[in-house]
Amino acid sequence: MSPLSFFIFFLKSLAFLNQIVYIMSSVLLYTIKHKNILGEIIMSLELSRKAMDVKPSSTLAITAKAKKLKSEGKDIVGFGAGEPDFATPENICLAAKRAIENGFTKYTPAAGTLELREAISKKFKTFNKLDYSVDQIVVSNGGKHSLTNIFEALLNPGDEVIIPAPFWLSYPEMVKLCGGVPVFVNCTAENNYKITAEALNKAITDKTKAVVINSPNNPTGMIYTRKELEKIADVVVKRDIYVIADEMYEYLVYDNNEFVSIASLNEEIYKRTVTCSGLSKSYSMTGWRIGYAGASKEIAKLMSSIQSHQASNPNSIAQVAAVEALNGPQDAPEIMKKEFDKRRTYMYERIEKMPYVSTIRPQGAFYVFLDFSKVFGKNYKGEKITDIAQVARILIDDYLTAVIPCADFGAPANIRLSYAISMEDIKKGLDRIEEFLNTIQ
Ligand code: PMP
Repeated sequence: MSPLSFFIFFLKSLAFLNQIVYIMSSVLLYTIKHKNILGEIIMSLELSRKAMDVKPSSTLAITAKAKKLKSEGKDIVGFGAGEPDFATPENICLAAKRAIENGFTKYTPAAGTLELREAISKKFKTFNKLDYSVDQIVVSNGGKHSLTNIFEALLNPGDEVIIPAPFWLSYPEMVKLCGGVPVFVNCTAENNYKITAEALNKAITDKTKAVVINSPNNPTGMIYTRKELEKIADVVVKRDIYVIADEMYEYLVYDNNEFVSIASLNEEIYKRTVTCSGLSKSYSMTGWRIGYAGASKEIAKLMSSIQSHQASNPNSIAQVAAVEALNGPQDAPEIMKKEFDKRRTYMYERIEKMPYVSTIRPQGAFYVFLDFSKVFGKNYKGEKITDIAQVARILIDDYLTAVIPCADFGAPANIRLSYAISMEDIKKGLDRIEEFLNTIQ
């Protein structure tokens, strides 16, 4: 080979190598960009196990699906609603407007304004027969926030919290997030889905820190009687644990049922109870985010201090609105309650006559709880029905009716229907559920 042809060969090889390097770097850049290789390297660092252990709320998922179908123009009936379908009463909204106009838009004390805690203290006294002074009350951003503050103030890693099943699906996730261990006690329809003192006593171990008593109950609509609470209180005092009394639906009590706050029974149970409530359901204020708790001074102080770091304080404007809700005229909640009561009676009487399902007359809140266990094993369009999620899927896909399957509420054969929707929708939705039940074989 002549020196010239060698030189040309050398140049060509360089150009070829250059091409290869160019192609390889392009491929590499494309892979990094599109396959997110760097992202994957970063994501291989483990995220919080506690957070990853939390189940996303299945009620929100169903509601989101129903909303999407509705936005596509489908005539959906949504029985999933966990909030009143009424507007927030006008006097409450006006108070909030005034708060803005008056510049009440800054930080407040961590536990809530003195004025609001005074209003809550008065309400505790007159409605719940409970003495909580202002330094025993902590106002938070909704009932959920109050409950997480409570669990954070009470629990050490590994502490057990007894949760009677069926339960509102957020309790176990909150307990886990606060380092605790949820312990479920199954409650039967024969006992109106309530925990008995005997079952509670049996479930308590040396790791038990607290039991959650939710009355009126979400999802069952059941209310604990004074007698039942007295027996439960005896066990709690004897075994020296705490009660977390979730009384979020305390105003929504129907017929001649009596609402009793467990902490009001005697001094010993009072000391061991943290009572939690809020304005979301009673005053149709779900979006305002005001919840509160009454507890011993020691626990309230811990909750307030936790809250001061996590959220500073509840929303200042909503706090002014809450004072008006509690101290102002009470006719709006009464009107809502009467309307809920009408819908409850209608629903119960219709469901009771439907084939394959059974229910118990709800006593409070705004939910009817249906047992679908007799539907399992039946056939629908050649498909064998085996679980409650499948029933919910059929109802939304084929009958445009959104219901809440209660597997995540500790009730794998049940469905929760909310009557916080219009009577017209209730009728339409029940017609559809009935049609489904008449179709299965
Ligand atoms: N407790 C129960 C039993 C509930 O059903 C709810 C709301 N679904 C809450 C507490 C929390 O209420 P809030 O919207 O004020 O967070």
